Amino acid sequence: MAFSYYIQANCSHTKARAGIFTTPHGTVETPRFMPVGTLATVKGITPRQLKDAAAQMILANTYHLHLQPGEDIVESAGGLHKFMAWEQPILTDSGGFQVFSLSELRKISEEGVTFRSPRDGRIINMTPEHSIKIQNALGADVIMAFDECPPADASKAEVAAATERTYRWLKRCISAHQKPEKQALFGIVQGGIYLDLRSQSVADLVALDLPGYAIGGVSVGEKPELINATVQHTAPLLPADKPRYLMGVGTYREMVQAIASGVDLFDCVIPTRFGRHGTALVNGERINIKNAQYKRDYKPLDETCPCYACQNFSRSYLNHLVKSREMLGYILLSLHNITELIRFTQKIRTAILKDNFMVEFGNWLSKS
Ligand SMILES: [Zn+2]
Repeated sequence: MAFSYYIQANCSHTKARAGIFTTPHGTVETPRFMPVGTLATVKGITPRQLKDAAAQMILANTYHLHLQPGEDIVESAGGLHKFMAWEQPILTDSGGFQVFSLSELRKISEEGVTFRSPRDGRIINMTPEHSIKIQNALGADVIMAFDECPPADASKAEVAAATERTYRWLKRCISAHQKPEKQALFGIVQGGIYLDLRSQSVADLVALDLPGYAIGGVSVGEKPELINATVQHTAPLLPADKPRYLMGVGTYREMVQAIASGVDLFDCVIPTRFGRHGTALVNGERINIKNAQYKRDYKPLDETCPCYACQNFSRSYLNHLVKSREMLGYILLSLHNITELIRFTQKIRTAILKDNFMVEFGNWLSKS
């Protein structure tokens, strides 16, 4: 089997677990934060730097790569790994979330979604079959089902209809998938903040015996306590022997809370987005490096951080670069932030392996 998930340790006090997810391009030690490389690039960071940051699996996005450069270009180049020179695991998001959140939607039907390309205005049809065809051409190790993502303010009836449609679309995704031996298709649990819909969605998906499961439709604008309640309810319902991925979540507290509920994988754009806005993640806090207090601060961002930025440069220098709008400033901050979030999940993993998760990270569970 090209794909497997092996649990190395379970926490005695919570549902946290440490494991190893094996893919055709190597293993992913979980829990793990996955950097986002939407357009087949983690903005400003070279693959060598990503490797130094201990990245294992990274994300790319089907919707964006379909619009530019087009999956045929990537496929002709030898697939996404070769095209972007990343030899380790890659996951492609199906495009569902982007179609529903970024596009000028024309029509949603049982068949799929019609929208206007924000790049050149052409009308594009995206169906479950089309999304899987694109993802088969891109060649990531993990591909995602095409799902309908209702907005956070949708009614329960609207969420229920979208969740049922997502399930019908998932079955079409499975039928369309041409490379199950090389690419693991993960299903996405929907159901919004409604726990009974989440339970039904999990039951439907689990019956299809997929190689992994994602929890979608969280962190879309609902209150933070509802995110935690949804994950706490949903994650433990998923099969223990398959990887669990919480989509679009990657802040310190949300990750610790989700890990305590048994989630393994996370992604979020914040490390690079913050980096481009002069914000550094240090010891669980956000600092704005442009603040005057850092002008003569000759310490590194984090003395304990092994990243290139912290090993070589001071806060004073980063303050100068960002205030001068120098490209290197944003790159160094992004590099540090990625290293920081991966390292945070690595520390959690080590704690779980020693059954010390509650002692070291329990304080995050009570913080609000
Ligand atoms: Zn650093």
